[in-house]
Amino acid sequence: MHTRNLIGGEWVGAESGAVFPVRNPATDETLAEVPDCGTTETARAIDAAAAAFEGWRALPAHERSAPLRRLSDLMLAEVEPLATLLSREQGKPLAEARGEIRYGASFVEWAAEEAKRVYGETIPASTPGKRIVVLRQPVGVVAAITPWNFPNAMITRKIAPALAVGCTAVVKPAEQTPLSALALGDLCARAGLPAGVVNIVTGRDPAPIGAALFADPRVRHVSFTGSTEVGRVLMRQAAANITRLSLELGGHAPFIVFEDADLDKAVAGLMASKFRNAGQTCICANRVLVQESIADEFVARLRGAIAGLQLGPWDSPDATVGPLIDDDAVAKVERHIADARAGGASVRTGGTVISPRAGLARRFVEPTILEGVKPGMLCTREETFGPVVPITRFATEAEAVRLANDTPFGLAAYFYTRDASRLIRVAEALEYGVVGANDGAPSTAQAPFGGVKHSGFGREGGKHACQDYTELKYVSIGL
Ligand code: ADP
Repeated sequence: MHTRNLIGGEWVGAESGAVFPVRNPATDETLAEVPDCGTTETARAIDAAAAAFEGWRALPAHERSAPLRRLSDLMLAEVEPLATLLSREQGKPLAEARGEIRYGASFVEWAAEEAKRVYGETIPASTPGKRIVVLRQPVGVVAAITPWNFPNAMITRKIAPALAVGCTAVVKPAEQTPLSALALGDLCARAGLPAGVVNIVTGRDPAPIGAALFADPRVRHVSFTGSTEVGRVLMRQAAANITRLSLELGGHAPFIVFEDADLDKAVAGLMASKFRNAGQTCICANRVLVQESIADEFVARLRGAIAGLQLGPWDSPDATVGPLIDDDAVAKVERHIADARAGGASVRTGGTVISPRAGLARRFVEPTILEGVKPGMLCTREETFGPVVPITRFATEAEAVRLANDTPFGLAAYFYTRDASRLIRVAEALEYGVVGANDGAPSTAQAPFGGVKHSGFGREGGKHACQDYTELKYVSIGL
């Protein structure tokens, strides 16, 4: 297990020697202590990334591609230890953690291939004596500030395209899950990425690290995934050096089931979207809108599917739903359930927080169905981030679309229908960056993932992510 920071190819501690603990959310066991860094170490990491930039960008694309390819191969070869570490610090079941490592590797593989296709353009000039050439050049040092819910994949999704186009990176992982980030740093070094191309700084308090990143004009782009609240803070900080931003912020995904849907597929899609990572993803179905005529049947089938879920810690072979990350997360879910009940909603299944057995923390939320949820309740206004399905019934397509769009957030939305015209109409009407039409799991390495409205801007995945890390420059050539 790597417990020191990676700066300029060296494994180092905080200058003060300070450390902070990383714990298993299922048991509160301390897994390791990692450096508690701040402004000084961040400045060093930026120095290292800036020093590595000129050499890295100058490499022919296929020479940048090769170590990325090796990194992806190493991740796949070491799925088991990486997944085990990830499960222990994050809490998700081992099968899901394995899936995350493969998903994380898919971004690296994609970027390794795309590195060779960062094309410019030529544009016809207006006069015979000129030529116009458009270059795509790497922006420079990129910083990645990542969340705890996908401790591996959120890092690779950000840095792989940045490295592919010739940028270097400083990574600031979430304080809850730094060990997966440091494990990835080890693989970056073993894959042959030159010293300083990837640097990782951990800290208990993210604010000084973030401030140091924005205060340094050499950091040209910050890619952040986290809450809308912190996204706003970062946008203000970015103003100082006109730092470019990608912000993947909170979501509040509607999941619409029309009466003409294939109900079994809709239930399977909802299960995949809602219960992955115990409901702690920004694209989790958060508001389930079901057409009146099929609502009873849909809820009955959903209850049947939920009965097959099993709460448990990562090393329990049958566990399909793990603990929430911390007590604040549990308190938020309890608040949402209590508020819905107080407003007249009923709990159809689940509804309580338990410790599945002795030695485990009380952080396991029973998969819950709330029926009779009305607009205005807390769970219809903010992300629950837990395994709770709030159900609202609707009468018409227009009402469903209005309810779905009635939020400041706009990351992912889902709907199920077998009517081809409705599929096009609703997909176009939803104000979201990602739409799953008869698909509960739309994320993939080659597609442009990202939000609109308060869910942020910038796209991760595919060629679009690579473009986000380049500047366009046109050269007007007189002959
Ligand atoms: P969550 O609610 O999911 O924990 P946050 O937005 O608080 O989301 O955190 C997401 C990431 O942003 C984490 O890496 C966290 O350490 C970091 N972060 C939180 N506050 C700040 C800040 N003021 N400056 C920079 N990074 C921050």
